Amino acid sequence: MPRTTDRLPFPYRSEAGVLAQRLSALQGALDWASAATQAAPWVRAVRENPPPFWAMESLLKEYPISSAEGLALMRLAEALLRVPDAETAIALTADQLGRADFDGAADSTLARLSSTAIAMSKHFLPQAGSEPGLMVKLGAKSVVAATLRAVQLLGRQFVLGQTIEEGMKEAASARKRQANLSFSFDMLGEGARTDADALRYLASYQHAIAAISRTADPTRAPSQNDGISIKLSALHPRFEDAQHDRVMRELVPRVWTLCEGAAAANLNLTIDAEEVDRLELSLDVFEALVKLVAQHCPQWQGFGLALQAYQTRAVELIEHVAALGRQYRLKFMCRLVKGAYWDAEIKRAQELGLPAYPVFTQKPHTDVSYLACARALLDAPDAIYPQFATHNAGTIAAILQMAATTGPHAPPLRGSLPPEGAQAGLGRPGAGLPKFELQRLHGMGEGIYREVLKNPAVSCRVYAPVGAHRDLLAYLVRRLLENGANSSFVHQLADESVGMDELLLSPLEQSQPAALSSSLPLPPDLYGSARPNSLGLDLAVITHREPLLAAHAALVVPAVPEATAAEAQAAVTKAVQAFAGWNHTPVAERAATLRRAADAMQQHLPQLCALLVKEAHKGWNDAVSEVREAIDFLRYYANDAERVMAPQALPGPTGESNTLRMEGRGAWVCISPWNFPLAIFAGQVAAALATGNTVLAKPAEQTPAIALEAVKLLHAAGVPASALQLLHGPGETVGASLVAQPGIAGVVFTGSTQVAKIIQRALAAKDGPIIPLIAETGGINAMLVDSTALPEQVADAVVQSAFRSAGQRCSALRLLCVHEAIADGVFEMIEGAAKELVAGDPSELATDLGPVIDAEAFDGITRHVQRLHADARPLLGSCRATHGQVHVIAPQMFEVGAIADVTQEIFGPVLQVVRWSGDPMAVVQQINALGYGLTLGIQTRIDSRALALAGAARVGNVYVNRNMIGAVVGVQPFGGEGLSGTGPKAGGPNYLLRFCAEQTLTINTTAAGGNVALFTG
Ligand SMILES: Cc1cc2nc3c(=O)[nH]c(=O)nc-3n(C[C@H](O)[C@H](O)[C@H](O)COP(=O)(O)OP(=O)(O)OC[C@H]3O[C@@H](n4cnc5c(N)ncnc54)[C@H](O)[C@@H]3O)c2cc1C
Repeated sequence: MPRTTDRLPFPYRSEAGVLAQRLSALQGALDWASAATQAAPWVRAVRENPPPFWAMESLLKEYPISSAEGLALMRLAEALLRVPDAETAIALTADQLGRADFDGAADSTLARLSSTAIAMSKHFLPQAGSEPGLMVKLGAKSVVAATLRAVQLLGRQFVLGQTIEEGMKEAASARKRQANLSFSFDMLGEGARTDADALRYLASYQHAIAAISRTADPTRAPSQNDGISIKLSALHPRFEDAQHDRVMRELVPRVWTLCEGAAAANLNLTIDAEEVDRLELSLDVFEALVKLVAQHCPQWQGFGLALQAYQTRAVELIEHVAALGRQYRLKFMCRLVKGAYWDAEIKRAQELGLPAYPVFTQKPHTDVSYLACARALLDAPDAIYPQFATHNAGTIAAILQMAATTGPHAPPLRGSLPPEGAQAGLGRPGAGLPKFELQRLHGMGEGIYREVLKNPAVSCRVYAPVGAHRDLLAYLVRRLLENGANSSFVHQLADESVGMDELLLSPLEQSQPAALSSSLPLPPDLYGSARPNSLGLDLAVITHREPLLAAHAALVVPAVPEATAAEAQAAVTKAVQAFAGWNHTPVAERAATLRRAADAMQQHLPQLCALLVKEAHKGWNDAVSEVREAIDFLRYYANDAERVMAPQALPGPTGESNTLRMEGRGAWVCISPWNFPLAIFAGQVAAALATGNTVLAKPAEQTPAIALEAVKLLHAAGVPASALQLLHGPGETVGASLVAQPGIAGVVFTGSTQVAKIIQRALAAKDGPIIPLIAETGGINAMLVDSTALPEQVADAVVQSAFRSAGQRCSALRLLCVHEAIADGVFEMIEGAAKELVAGDPSELATDLGPVIDAEAFDGITRHVQRLHADARPLLGSCRATHGQVHVIAPQMFEVGAIADVTQEIFGPVLQVVRWSGDPMAVVQQINALGYGLTLGIQTRIDSRALALAGAARVGNVYVNRNMIGAVVGVQPFGGEGLSGTGPKAGGPNYLLRFCAEQTLTINTTAAGGNVALFTG
């Protein structure tokens, strides 16, 4: 069934085009110069007479987040309060303060307090990086206590109370100081990872609504009562588009209980806006609730949602919501914000290789969009009650001007009128309810609103977070970012060096669609002129996901004939004969051929993904990433071959020339695995071909069809059939026969350590030249988590690293080592999150884990699981399985006694966990002692510790504070050491060298006629 939200415009559009539309919508609707004139006295008043607790603004002026001090503050604020053990708290404080300078003077209470505490702290702290002695430690403890106090104050700045009762008390006293004030309470918490957390948040919202209802007057309009703001991600552990049906089934009833409570007391209930990829789903949830409201409480006009102006489709979104209101004869309260996740949106679009950004990339563009959205909201008074949330004086003045001049019932805005011209648009003085409200966040914008609210006709609602510290962190970091960013209004307001003209510059004048240039490259241009980034998909968008599903429906997996040993032998002869021709093809031509193949793969992405899903049981996201990786390999090696193979002049004595040149080596055998049947296959083949070698490609027995498709595309792009031959068949016969042939020049292999050893021995046993072998094998990959880590971030990283692709990645996490002080909570959260995973049919968008590759793998993993049931403590063993799939294994988690107990790689969704205490360096030594060396995850907020641990780890890829899978070509070259492989790293600058033969050419230039260069030089 088509979803309503599929009617929204495509989110990845041309910024210039959208901006031009927004500017034209504002033409004649706004006189910015008048707005600036109105805002200037507010700014002046705040600067001359700052509010009593002018804390955040001045603190972040003192220590902007772009400075070492600001960054240290933000990191301490994010991490220090959750650290349970003194030892680690000291190490964290020393680490962060050791690199910052807090001794400068500050001019406000909080800034002074914080900086004094922190500056004082620094004098007592042990040197960052060195181990604290006993005496110093005693001092250090009190230093940490002082820093803690400062950080607590920082957090408290943004939170109205620890409980709703406390928050409401604070609100009541604020109301005494300032009229025209109402509140929207926000029970802190977002991004529930487990259902238990979601239910905890639900209970806290229910409790808050009950409390607010007690003081509300149900006979008054919701705009006159306090209200509540809720985050959908707090109320469901899988609030993501892929889980659409389940979210609709489980989340809608939960939110409906909140709506019923709010409707009964006539409160404003607002659904906060979160990340862009959740928008479609949020709107589906919203519409389902709208239907219920229309059915059960159509008189309630307090339901609403927040809309982000930084989204390029914000205006269309408003039109969509207004249309819903009209369709159901309801009126919604719509909060317009600029948007709080800007940096995260930019990062996500770049990582996914999306065609454009879903948000504007320049601050004035967001400001323009905000004003265009404001206009759209004001133009829909029948369906929308607008709530303008901003701390920007210019934006506020522009809104007041537009409100005064738009619509039939403009409010009486005495004192806040545009100086002239706009008065004709004003409505009846004193008429009815206000037609809009302004909003600000608690702890921000007090000064400006003190001035704005001198006009009694203007009202303001304060968004007031309530909760304990454990739920504050994500919110706090967003606020610190917002306050600390140079481009932010509150930051500039506190900075007297920013003049009035600059502060109130017209965003319309700063936005030039025709000359739009950005310091941010679009995601496809991430690698500049070097190579295009592969394009990815957003599966939440219908036009992106439908071609995949259609390709899957139409796909018949082709049969691939097996080669015999004799055919393998003949193929080697052919490859050897073809070598000279391909090797002498200019490298630029070979590179161009690979680039054409990359473009063809990009075009065939849906078909290749469908094949990966059907043949290799990949999930859709994994399939898209894999095709992108293959494309990146082709382009990267094409470029790198041109770099590496360019003749290099070497210095030497006069009278001779010395040049280093690279050649191919001959015929290479490329043996690839089933777990990345396209990316690793294409990577190996492309590296060999780019450097002039011919290729005998032996794919995994389980996945020949995808290899066949790749070979077809490479041939069609211009690789001669004799230069690339596909030989499908069992490793023991076809693979072994290829390796044993006398004519081959090299072997590149990805697979198990055991098979790599067999190949190595077979090569060593042959007479003739010594054949190079590049082997990339598995690993017992570990993640080390200390007590500064954020459990939610750890849970995300662990669940992705251990269970994504059913644990069948070389890089997958096998051994999780968590500091004992936080181990119970972290294990519990991972367990809860893993239980929410869906195992089953990989062609379903909702599936997280498909079946393991075949019966043999299933049996092997099952045997390991049985052994672990006897030897270790099971922590988990179930998830949401869909039925009817063979070889599906639910995520498994076992606690073992010691790191040394983990002796084998289990290539499936099986995670072993262990607790540690004491010196983290000793943990790394124990991990090293396992003998493998592929990937390592580190989760810590102590930067110097992360660097030291990475330095001590004998592994190829270290990932800090993120998951440890999904290495990107040219960004995270991949490959390990020890039992994990020979190197060089795939997708790195040294890989191609191993495929090359080197030649130096020395020519005595004096031999025929003397040293002309010396005479003429
Ligand atoms: C009552 C209230 C409720 C809120 N609820 C939500 C919510 O539900 N969801 C949510 O996401 N946010 C929410 N916010 C936060 C809000 O998004 C930020 O407070 C707001 O963006 C700050 O805007 P400003 O006009 O006060 O400041 P300004 O300084 O004028 O604007 C800052 C904003 O500009 C945008 N921006 C910054 N740099 C760039 C750039 N390079 N390119 C494009 N745009 C840029 C960002 O959105 C940034 O936040 C809420 C805010 C308030 C006051």
